[in-house]
Order: sequence, then C-alpha cells, then structure tokens
Amino acid sequence: LEVISSVEPRIADATRQELADQRASLKLIASENYASPAVLMTMGTWFSDKYAEGTIGHRFYAGCQNVDTVESIAAEHARELFGAEYAYVQPHSGIDANLTAYWAILAHRVEGPWLENAGVKNMNDLSEADWEKLRADLGNQRLLGMSLDAGGHLTHGFRPNISGKMFHQNQYGTDPETGLLDYDALRAKAKEFKPLILVAGYSAYPRRVNFAKMREIADEVGATLMVDMAHFAGLVAGKVFTGDEDPVPHAHVVTSTSHKSLRGPRGGFILATEDYSASVDRGCPMVLGGPLSHVMAAKAVAFAEARQDSFRGYAQQIADNAKSLADGFLSRGANLVTGGTDNHIVLLDVTSFGLTGRQAESALLDAGVVTNRNSVPADPNGAWYTSGIRLGTPALTTRGFGHDEFDRVAELIVHVLQNTQPGTTKAGEPSKASYVLADGVADKVKDASAELLD
Ligand code: PLP
Repeated sequence: LEVISSVEPRIADATRQELADQRASLKLIASENYASPAVLMTMGTWFSDKYAEGTIGHRFYAGCQNVDTVESIAAEHARELFGAEYAYVQPHSGIDANLTAYWAILAHRVEGPWLENAGVKNMNDLSEADWEKLRADLGNQRLLGMSLDAGGHLTHGFRPNISGKMFHQNQYGTDPETGLLDYDALRAKAKEFKPLILVAGYSAYPRRVNFAKMREIADEVGATLMVDMAHFAGLVAGKVFTGDEDPVPHAHVVTSTSHKSLRGPRGGFILATEDYSASVDRGCPMVLGGPLSHVMAAKAVAFAEARQDSFRGYAQQIADNAKSLADGFLSRGANLVTGGTDNHIVLLDVTSFGLTGRQAESALLDAGVVTNRNSVPADPNGAWYTSGIRLGTPALTTRGFGHDEFDRVAELIVHVLQNTQPGTTKAGEPSKASYVLADGVADKVKDASAELLD
C-alpha cells in the first residue's frame, strides 16, 4: 500500500478502509467471499501486462509461452475438479462466460450446419446472400430461462439484458404456493416454446435443482442444456451437490464464476462436453479479446485450493450453516421463501416486518450487517424496492462461523428488523425507501457482531 500511496494516496486509503469494513461487518451477500492470500497475490503480478488473444498454443501475439502454461494449468485443474471433458478459463466474469457460451452454442447448433450445407469451412467464404440468411437465422433462436423474480439471473433471458434481446426469450418460474421449481410446468412450457437453449441455474433460489430432470426436458425438446452454476460452484466442487444435483454430468455446457462460493478471483469459466469444446474454445475472437492472464493464474490457484480435501469440509459447512441460519429465522417467526434452504442461500421475506427489501437492507447496513435486497416471487414491490433480503453463508463460513454463530446472526437480524419502522417522504407520504431504526440498536448489533468476529 505504501507503493500505491506514493502515487495516489486516496486509493491506498480506500483500499485500507475496504479491508477494515470487510473485517468489521457481517458479510452476508450470497455472491461474496474472502479469497485466500495466495489467490489475491497471484492477481497482482506482471501477467497483467501480457496480451494473449487466442487459445492455448494458438495465439495472435508472440511470447505467450508462460500464459500458455498458466491457462493450461487452470484448465486442467478445472477439468479435474469438476470431472469435465473440457474447460475454458478465459471469460472475465460470469456475464462474459454466459455470453461466450450462448455464442458457442449458436456456433455449434446453427452456424456449423449452415457452413456444412453451404459446403464452406469459413464464414468469410459464405456468399453475401447466405451470410444475410445465416444472420437472420441466428437472430431467430429461442432461449428459455428462469425468471428474475423466481431467482434466475439477468443473463438468463431477462428482457433488458442482451440475452433477452438476442434471443426470442421465454421464462419459467416457480410454483406460486411452494416457491419451488415445478418440473412438470417447466416441461409443458418447454414443449410449447421449443427452445434451442434451456438455461438452468439461479442467483436467488434457495433450493437444489435436479439437473438430470432438466436434461430429460432438454432432450425431449431438442434443446441444449446450459447450467449457470455461478452461485453454487463451490458446492459442486466440494461434492455437496452430487448425482442428479451435480450439473456437470448432465449439462452440455456449464458456465460459472470463480469468485462466489468457489472462493477464487473475480472471473468466469466454462465447462463443456467434447461436442461443444471446439466452439467454446473460440471464445476469443467470438466474444472475448485478450484474456486476463493474471486472473487465469489466480483461477488456477483457487482451483488447486478447491481440490484439497479441506475444501469439501468448507463446502459442507456452507450448506449446514445455511440451514442453521434458516432455522434461526423460522424459530423466531420469520418467513422464508420456500420455507427454508438446502443450498447456501436464505431468502427472507421482510413483508411480515412491515418493510420493503430496500428499507430492511438499509437498516441492516446501519447495524453493520451487509446484505442485498432481492425480489421474492411475484414481488408486490417490484425489482427496485423488493420484498426480500437475500443472505448467503459462504463468506462467514470462511471466517469460521458454525451453527451457533449463524443462529446468533439470525437473532441479530430479526432484532434489527423488529426495531425498524417504515419512514415517510419529505411530504409525509408513505415511503418504500426511508425507515427509522430505533436508537441504540445499530450499536448493540455492531458490538455483538464484533464478539462473533473476534
Ligand atoms: N450468473 C449468475 C447465476 C450470477 O448470480 C451472476 C452474478 O451475480 C452472474 C452470472 C454474473 O457474474 P459477474 O458479476 O461475474 O458477471
């Protein structure tokens, strides 16, 4: 930090402050974690300075031998860790991984047959008329993904996202009574809509998914099954999700981030069956430019960490802790979407406290509890104010929390919410954003958190 300080002290100060804040607060954002010093240090090297567009052994720049080494090791660890036929570790983020996967699936399913029919190997050899027809065909494909308010991600066909614009999209939700995935309803929708791509995976669904069933549905309608395991990759790596709950043996393509429950650097990666590997391997130039070689190196380190036996214990503890947190809420009368959890996420419906998600998130932050507001299914408050708070256990599990600590976390959160009242606008109208947290509560909760984090 002294080196940074000598150039821009405000950045050094902010970095120091971020460390202090992350250490002092209860970090319950389901997509966050604490990467190891080895992972963090690997990101801060001169690999950042190297350009390496292309793929392993086939670069558009000279002098990429060390990047080749790094990318090969990262891909090898990813294949071994997840039991995948092929791994691609270049995507810079989860969104990049999804976009790359979509275009790879389009290349495999749409472009490939087109080129074959036209009797050419390269797209540049297509006639202008065929090229226009191919472009129209690419723009005419269908994608079915989980809706945002049921727990899906923006990139799963949400209209404002590019995935909702580049495909004819349709969305599946959850059962209105139970909040659970309804595979029969999903099958019926898939049969009617006939997607090219069926996307499974979630950002805010607190339950496990049966990927064997998802594959059955995809096969019935001739769709490619793509699973976005960004959130739960750590639970797959740690063998908490096995058999039908492990996406890798069932999906054609699996996308992920490396920084959530998997506890690596910020980044994305893709796993695929051999069939799809050649298309995914063309991520650059299809969607990506130069890979972040320093981050690929850090992914290799994180995958190596996740292959150690201790990671299995960590992953199991994430899931056990989520149950403890959920039970802590239920025993104190709070409402949870789906009535509980069996992954790393707990989705707390805060309407019974008379609050919006926005008010609850802000009051909790005042008390040093860092969460994010989240829609609940058919949310009456919409995607901005919301009615839920999403909580995740990966980060505090890294800090050594177990059952008792998570029960206490539930107690502290309920205490904050019970002592928060909705506020009003300046004109005295009811407000979905402002709130009043009773005096003394924030300090009391911060003191209790400090004891837990000690
Ligand atoms: N996919 C899922 C399921 C996610 O939850 C997220 C991020 O929250 C992403 C993709 C995007 O990841 P990133 O923020 O790295 O682009």
